[in-house]
Amino acid sequence: MSTILDGKSVADIIIAELKQKADRLAANKIIPTLAIVVATADESAKWYVRAICRTAESSKITAKVIDLGPDANAQELATALSNLADDEHVSGIILQTPLPSNVNIDDLLPLIPVSKDVDAANPASLGRLAAGLSAFAPATALAALRLLKHYQIPLAGINAVVVGRSRIVGLPAALLLLSANATVTICHSKTQDLASVTRNADVLVVAAGNAGLIGPEHVKSGAVVIDVGTNVEGNGNLVGDVQAEVANIAGALSPVPGGVGPVTTALLLEQTVLAAHHNFLKDND
Ligand code: NDP
Repeated sequence: MSTILDGKSVADIIIAELKQKADRLAANKIIPTLAIVVATADESAKWYVRAICRTAESSKITAKVIDLGPDANAQELATALSNLADDEHVSGIILQTPLPSNVNIDDLLPLIPVSKDVDAANPASLGRLAAGLSAFAPATALAALRLLKHYQIPLAGINAVVVGRSRIVGLPAALLLLSANATVTICHSKTQDLASVTRNADVLVVAAGNAGLIGPEHVKSGAVVIDVGTNVEGNGNLVGDVQAEVANIAGALSPVPGGVGPVTTALLLEQTVLAAHHNFLKDND
């Protein structure tokens, strides 16, 4: 059986360090504050926001939810984001999805200043990341890399394959692997013979949102598999994109739940603390 890459224990370590950092900041009268703008009745989105708030509270970070309700319009959302951008007490900003159907998210994301863009939703953050400039990375992509780092999986020179090319997970995960000197291949829904590509992977990161997409036939013996997928089954259970049988062939595997998810939440807060501390991209907004 493969080694389990335990995200919960990695998240616990990050949170313990965050508490110490938050204490040091508090001594200087700086309270890291994460603002989450919500405009949905979607239960899973609300569950996610509550989870962030709980973890923030236990990490001595302030989480402030601005709930505009599911009928909010684009102007109300834009005003809320602009106010948070100007608020010197706000360190980080997240615009929670989904948004009301008549709102174009691409009009709103540029309103999050890069210096407060702790989940790298503003395309400018991804552009900076691609250009090798300092920027926050999307927390989920970063969580995949943090798991690999924690378990000391070597990345330089290895073959990494990412399944998924979204700008919030797959693409930034590929960029982060590239900057760690892996040789990176990105797969997507038009990739032909997916298994023949993924079988080349020493490290396989799967972020397709397609339950059970990856089976043993997609995985090289001994490969490290990071399952980013979160799919809610009819019975309410959360499952990943990777079949359970992959544990018989992979060298290491991150579970769902309990893998990338808890690390993602912890890293959102870590990036909030970093933003509070440095405000290091302020001049580039
Ligand atoms: P998107 O739907 O935006 O992107 C999915 C990507 O997977 C697309 O690039 C798509 O290809 C590709 N894809 C879909 N089906 C296949 C297939 N059969 N073969 C190959 N590629 C395929 O999803 P996200 O990137 O936002 O999220 C991906 C998963 O990660 C979801 O399950 C989501 O819930 C989860 N997630 C987990 C988080 C966490 O904290 N653990 C946080 C964020 C997301 P194409 O581009 O061609 O359409």
